[in-house]
Amino acid sequence: MIEVENLIGGEYSTAAESFDDICPSDGSIIASIPRTMMVDDAVKAAENAQPGWGALSLEQRADWLDKIADALESQHRQLAELEALDTGKPLEVAMEVDISRSIENFRFFAEFSRNMPEEVFEMEDATNTVLRKPVGVVGLISPWNLPLYLLTWKVAPALLMGNTIIAKPSEITPLTAHRLGQILCEIGFPAGVVNIVHGYGPEIGQSLVEHPAVKAISFTGGTATGRLVARTAAPMFKKLSLELGGKNSSIILDDADLGLAVPGVVRAGFLNSGQICLCGSRILVHSSIYDEFLESFLAAVSELKIGPVISENHMAKVLSFIDLAVAEGGDIVAGGLRSEDDGFHIEATVITGLSHDSRTATEEIFGPVVTIHRFDSDAEAVEMANCTDYGLAGSVWSKNRGEELAKQIESGMVWVNTWLHRDLRVPFGGIKDSGVGREGGMWSLGFFSEAINICVKHNDLQARV
Ligand code: NDP
Repeated sequence: MIEVENLIGGEYSTAAESFDDICPSDGSIIASIPRTMMVDDAVKAAENAQPGWGALSLEQRADWLDKIADALESQHRQLAELEALDTGKPLEVAMEVDISRSIENFRFFAEFSRNMPEEVFEMEDATNTVLRKPVGVVGLISPWNLPLYLLTWKVAPALLMGNTIIAKPSEITPLTAHRLGQILCEIGFPAGVVNIVHGYGPEIGQSLVEHPAVKAISFTGGTATGRLVARTAAPMFKKLSLELGGKNSSIILDDADLGLAVPGVVRAGFLNSGQICLCGSRILVHSSIYDEFLESFLAAVSELKIGPVISENHMAKVLSFIDLAVAEGGDIVAGGLRSEDDGFHIEATVITGLSHDSRTATEEIFGPVVTIHRFDSDAEAVEMANCTDYGLAGSVWSKNRGEELAKQIESGMVWVNTWLHRDLRVPFGGIKDSGVGREGGMWSLGFFSEAINICVKHNDLQARV
């Protein structure tokens, strides 16, 4: 049994009350989590540490990111085991996706900063130099689906730009964030620069968003929670980055290479039990290849081994969507049931026969459930893909027309003949109800800094030269 503690100013502490962390694989209690209510102590610690951390050079901070990456790398397997325990995901997925990417997040931003061009704009009679100052104390709120991966995607750029941090991981998956805090202490990372607080979202998360000394909130989570965060933070003029839900289409055109498309679309539908904001849970297939695609897709799905969904509540939500699909007239052509008595397992589920604008096909389920729909023309595929309130991601599978069609999809990212193929320099984020702002490369560094322009008028001597 692990005791999760808050990390505040380099010291560990608990709270008056605690609650249980449940393992999704078998329903057992694996840790106790402090029910922290107020964020004031963490804010004080972060405020105290900010001037010292902000005074380091970019290069010094980049060196720290590399040291953190080294330390995480030295514990790659242990961290993956912890993530697999907390989320129920297969160990290989935790190793290859979650922890590899968490390490890469630190390495990437360290290296990116070393190659950052200076931002200088010459005028005939003056020179503009853009400085990037830290925002100050920033709040980082992350979800349970990719716990360390998404937290470190925020921690690394926030640190690089000289901010101090209060991180609030999901109450459902606190273990790798807790371990990250321990690792920082072990490598002598300056106290108070990273503070990690645990508890319920509406309590400690809300308190973090409300605190006037927290100058920016980077939030990844559901659209409904994002709306609440925005309502609280916007009137205080905090910087706000919102990475929210998705309901993404995988579009298979009539000229698709099915040998590539079928495994790609299966992976997009079911990786991490469908619990990735980028998962393609609405599959749109051209009528002329529909039967062939469906047969191969179902054969591939029948071979899948997937982990549980994250919690009992979430399992109930996903199963209720399967009931809704039946009520809406859908045919469950694969899966549809809870698959084991222990833990929170649901079979990989495929639904056909629904309208593309049904609730099942347009609301985010965030589980191992996909719907399949037919279309007759590229224009119809675009119209069907764009009919949801979300606009996060999508994929198009076609030998010749993928890029052209991708440009017409209303979403922040579209992959052509691939999925989840990530270059960390590119903008990542959604439009419509999928969020506000972008992360990645310079977009992250822009969010975690205040760009200040210094305009120096040339003196007469310089002007004459
Ligand atoms: P939630 O919105 O429930 O929670 C996200 C985070 O917000 C958690 O840390 C949660 O804490 C916290 N929180 C809850 N209430 C508040 C509040 N009032 N104020 C501040 N913080 C609060 O999302 P889930 O954890 O369920 O994650 C799944 C969702 O995240 C899906 O919709 C998915 O699409 C989205 N997501 C988006 C991504 C993107 O990049 N666009 C990437 C990954 C996921 P607690 O857990 O303790 O309640």
